[in-house]
Amino acid sequence: MKSIAEIFPLLKAGPKQIVVTMHQKPDPDAMGSALGLYHFLKGLGHSVTVVSPTNWASFLNWMPGCDTVIDFDYRKAEADAVLQKADWIFCLDFNTLSRARHMAPVIAALSCVKILIDHHQQPEVEAFTYGISNTAKSSTSEMVYDFIADSGNGDAINKSIAECLYAGVIGDTGSFRFPASTASVHTMVAHLKQTGFNHTQVHENIYDNFLENRLRFIGMALLHRMEIMYEYNTALIAISKSDLLKFDIKTGDTEGLVNYPLTIQGIKLAAIVIDRDEERKWSFRSKGDFDTNTFARNYFNGGGHYNASGGRSAESLEKTIQTFKQMIKENASLLQ
Ligand code: 5GP
Ligand code: MN
Repeated sequence: MKSIAEIFPLLKAGPKQIVVTMHQKPDPDAMGSALGLYHFLKGLGHSVTVVSPTNWASFLNWMPGCDTVIDFDYRKAEADAVLQKADWIFCLDFNTLSRARHMAPVIAALSCVKILIDHHQQPEVEAFTYGISNTAKSSTSEMVYDFIADSGNGDAINKSIAECLYAGVIGDTGSFRFPASTASVHTMVAHLKQTGFNHTQVHENIYDNFLENRLRFIGMALLHRMEIMYEYNTALIAISKSDLLKFDIKTGDTEGLVNYPLTIQGIKLAAIVIDRDEERKWSFRSKGDFDTNTFARNYFNGGGHYNASGGRSAESLEKTIQTFKQMIKENASLLQ
């Protein structure tokens, strides 16, 4: 993978067909970084399409440009057509093609230029022509900001770009709480604010935009589905298929639920497992020195960041919970 700086001179060397994509079930950082880059590249005169591997939470629909995003799962022929004629494809907020789900083999087979911008651990660098991978960065949205600024186009940052990138940054930093909220993050936000965008509105669009059922579901999950294992400083929430059906849970409704157990004194690791149709989807969050990336990679076919990772299992809900408990036991010394 060559340095991303090598494409800076090419940005203004004539219009290109560009696809921007991100990981499946995009979160605010994945969608925000993709749409921020989309607005920037369009402003330079390129023909740009954002293709998402799957659907996304409706609390992202307010983002400028979101109405143009193609869902690969539902509009495959249309997505294929733009992918096949792409000169460049930008892959944002993921670093292993499998995170693009059914789109992964399509991306792998493309002969166009592939560009990675990502902040997760252990990138699959051989899959990309150019790119930047920096695990110290708060978010891919911050990296897209750097990309625009470092390529000498800082003046191109407008209100739409600012809204998208700000959404990504608050999503991945827990609204500036997590350790990766560096001075550069705050300096960037100062610049974004100069475009006049309304940061309170962005926050409300993402966090105060649910239906009653989602809050009732969270209440039920914390009361009846959360198990605390004090000897391992670990909490587990397990959600069954019938829970999802009963509360009419949609994509995005379970986001953030895994964070609640970390508000309990002494809890070092919080895990949630959700029984999705095709797999049991795990999310892990930790405080301090428990490495969820290694844990997710070793036992749950996943990965992510040091303190926030995800994974999956083909086992039944009961069986994967047993596996989790066994692995917690085996890693007990790391959880003290
Ligand atoms: P979440 O728990 O919110 O789905 O994901 C937490 C972090 O881990 C995110 O940065 C996400 O991109 C990453 N992640 C989630 N699931 C997987 C997975 O199956 N594989 C890898 N490599 N990363 C994941
Ligand atoms: Mn991210």
